Amino acid sequence: MDKPMETLDPRDWDDMRELAHQMVDDAVDLLKSAGEGPVWQPVPGEVRERLRGPAPRQPESLEAIYRQYLDDILPYRMGNIHPRFWAWYMGNGTLTGALGDFLASVMNSNVGGGNHSAPLVEAQVIDWMREIVGFPPGSSGLLTSGASAANLIGLTVARNTAAGYDVRHEGVRAAPGPLVAYASTEVHSCNKKAVETLGLGSDGLRGIPVNDDFKIDLDALRHSIDADRKAGAVPFCVIGSAGTINTGAIDDLEALADLCESEGLWFHIDGAIGAVAALADNVRPLLRGMERADSIALDLHKWMHIPFEAGCALVRSETAHRESFSLTPEYLAHEAEGRGLASGKYWPSDYGLQLSRQFRALKVWMSIREHGLDRYGRMIARNVEQAHYLDRLIEADPALEHMAPTGLDIVCFRFNPGGMAEEALDRLNQDILTELHEQGIAVPSYSTLNGRYCLRVAIANHRSRDEDFDLFVRELLRIGRELSSDPPHGST
Ligand SMILES: *Cc1c(COP(=O)(O)O)cnc(C)c1O
Repeated sequence: MDKPMETLDPRDWDDMRELAHQMVDDAVDLLKSAGEGPVWQPVPGEVRERLRGPAPRQPESLEAIYRQYLDDILPYRMGNIHPRFWAWYMGNGTLTGALGDFLASVMNSNVGGGNHSAPLVEAQVIDWMREIVGFPPGSSGLLTSGASAANLIGLTVARNTAAGYDVRHEGVRAAPGPLVAYASTEVHSCNKKAVETLGLGSDGLRGIPVNDDFKIDLDALRHSIDADRKAGAVPFCVIGSAGTINTGAIDDLEALADLCESEGLWFHIDGAIGAVAALADNVRPLLRGMERADSIALDLHKWMHIPFEAGCALVRSETAHRESFSLTPEYLAHEAEGRGLASGKYWPSDYGLQLSRQFRALKVWMSIREHGLDRYGRMIARNVEQAHYLDRLIEADPALEHMAPTGLDIVCFRFNPGGMAEEALDRLNQDILTELHEQGIAVPSYSTLNGRYCLRVAIANHRSRDEDFDLFVRELLRIGRELSSDPPHGST
C-alpha cells in the first residue's frame, strides 16, 4: 500500500475539527469571565525553562501542543483582556475580532494587491476611517500594523511632498538645508524613530515645549520655525498630537492647521489615541481641526479594541500618497482595466512598505458591522467619564494627588501620605505599582511628569466598570499605607 502523499494538512480531519471546536469553546469561556482571576502573574521559572529548547525535528500531537498552550502560555498573558488592565495604552480585543483574524488566516489571501475580495474590504474599511476623521472622499489610506507604521507612512509622504524637490530620486542629501519636523516634547517616541528612519537624524525633530496642560506651546513653535528658517534649515512638517501618551492631551489642532497653512508646512496628526474618539460626543469638540490635516495616523487596536495588530494611515492627497510608495517592477505590473487576478485598481502595496500583507481588514470590517460606530462612540465616551470618576476618587482622599490634568481617559496621580521627601515618594509609588501588579489586583503603568514618578491609568477598556475603580483605589490605599513606614502625618 502506498502511503498517502504528505502535506501540512491534518492526518485526520475529524480529530482536527473536534480540537478546533474545543479551542473555540475555551476561548468563549475565557472571554466570558475575563474579569476573573489575577490581571497579571509572573511567569514561573519552570515555565520559562519549558519555553526554551531546540527546534523540534519530528511531529508532535496538536493536542499536546494545545495542552502546553493552556498550561504554560495562556495563564501568563499580558492581561489586557481584563477589566482592570490600564497600562500603557492598549485595547482589550473581542471574540469577533479574534474570529475575524481566524477567518482571514483560513483564506490566507495576500493583500498586497490583485483582483480579489480582500482589497475591496480594506478599501471599504479605509473609507469608514476617513468618515470618522472627516477626511474628504478621494483621500487615501492603508491599514498598518499600528500607529508607529502609520506615522512612518504619513511622515514619509510629508517629507517627499513638502521638502520641495524630488526626494525619492535625489535623497535627503540634496536638501538645500536640514529638513526639520516639529512636535511637542510630549509626542510619542515612534515619531522620533520615524524621523530617524527617514534619514533626518533625531535633530530633524524639534521638541517644542508644552503648556501646563501638556499641549504644544504655539508661540514657541512659531519662534522655532522662524529661527530654523533664518539659520537655513528647511521646515517641512508639524506633527500634532490628538491625545498624548502621557496625559491624553490634545494639541490645538485648529491652530496648528492655521499655522501649517500660512507657513506652507505639512500637517500630520498622531491620532493613535484620540482620532477615533471623534466618535464620542464628549470628545469630538476637542478634535476640531483634525479634518484639516494632510495625514493622520490612527490605531484600531487601542480604543477600537480590534485585536493586535491594526492601525491605519490616512493621507488627504491620494496622489502624494501613491507617489511616495508606488514602485512597480514588471513582475508586479497591474492593469487597472485588465482582467484576471493580476488586475484590480487598488493595490495596497502601492501605498506602504509591505508587499505581502495580511487580511487585517476582515476583523475590522466584521467588528464595525457587528457593533456599529455609535456603540464604539459610547464605549469611548464611557471611558472618558470613568477617568473623571477616578479623578473624583483621587480628590476625595487626602493621601492621593493628581500629577497632571486628566486628558481624555488618562489619569496621572500618586500616593502621598504627607511628610515624605520627593525621592522617597518616587520609590514608594514604584513599590505600590509593583505590588498592584504582583498581587494581580490591577495593572496601571507609570510615567515621569516634571521629573516626578507617578502612577498612570489609561482607561481604554470596554470591560471596566465603576466598581473596578473603587476596588483599585481601595487596594492602592491599603498597599500604600502598608508600605509607608511612617503613619500619615497629614502635613507635607
Ligand atoms: C501607541 C501609540 C503610538 C504607537 O502605536 P503602535 O500601534 O504601538 O505602533 C503612537 N502614538 C501614540 C500617541 C500612541 O499612543
